[in-house]
Amino acid sequence: MMSFLLPKPSSTQLRLGIMGGTFDPIHMGHLVTAEEACQQFNLNNVIFMPSGEPPHKDKRDVTAAEHRYLMTMLAVVANPYFTLSRMEIDSGVTSYTVDTVRRFCDLYGGNLKLFFITGADAILDITTWKDYKELLESCSFIATSRPGYSLQKLREVLGSAFTVVMRHIHLLEVPAMAISSTEIRRRVAAGKTIRYLTPRPVEQYIYKNKLYKPLSLD
Ligand code: ATP
Ligand code: MG
Repeated sequence: MMSFLLPKPSSTQLRLGIMGGTFDPIHMGHLVTAEEACQQFNLNNVIFMPSGEPPHKDKRDVTAAEHRYLMTMLAVVANPYFTLSRMEIDSGVTSYTVDTVRRFCDLYGGNLKLFFITGADAILDITTWKDYKELLESCSFIATSRPGYSLQKLREVLGSAFTVVMRHIHLLEVPAMAISSTEIRRRVAAGKTIRYLTPRPVEQYIYKNKLYKPLSLD
């Protein structure tokens, strides 16, 4: 069944962006990136897709999916161009991007132009993603700049796969935000401020639920 949060299938072409991530927690770097992609690529919507069982991370270290989903909700719902999906967190299995993209193509049929938005750090290992050739054929990629990762480095890393892969990838420079979820988690654990790194409601949610704090004995 289609969630009411998702845009309805349309008889004219829908240009949708999917912003995948662990979002543990979501922060301004994610939001600025999605906003820029939305405007530059004329997207009807950007759908934030918190991962369920992230294949590239150690599950034990990732916050419960429901917390990550709610924080993402708090950060995106007020933007008319942004929404979010439970598809990966509800799938119950390890989610691969290629499976998510297939499911979106099934949901929306032929009138869909899908863009997968991903930071330079993630795109660097695209050739290790499940069925990456099929994935590159079934949607476009928007590879965005991220402080500390150079888009130039892609050529070296991809080697001979570069030409094939880059036919399907658009490069996008976004306003630089040197923020990561890892840094936010560290700051909370150390009692440092995270104000302005993430939207205020997300910050409040983190404190209310005591996320990222070492377990205290009292
Ligand atoms: P972690 O430190 O836990 O890995 P993260 O900050 O990298 O968290 P993710 O949820 O892993 O956040 O990232 C989701 C997507 O957002 C990835 O494609 C990543 O490249 C991109 N991204 C994350 N932070 C930024 C940022 N500051 N600027 C641009 N893109 C970013
Ligand atoms: Mg990351």
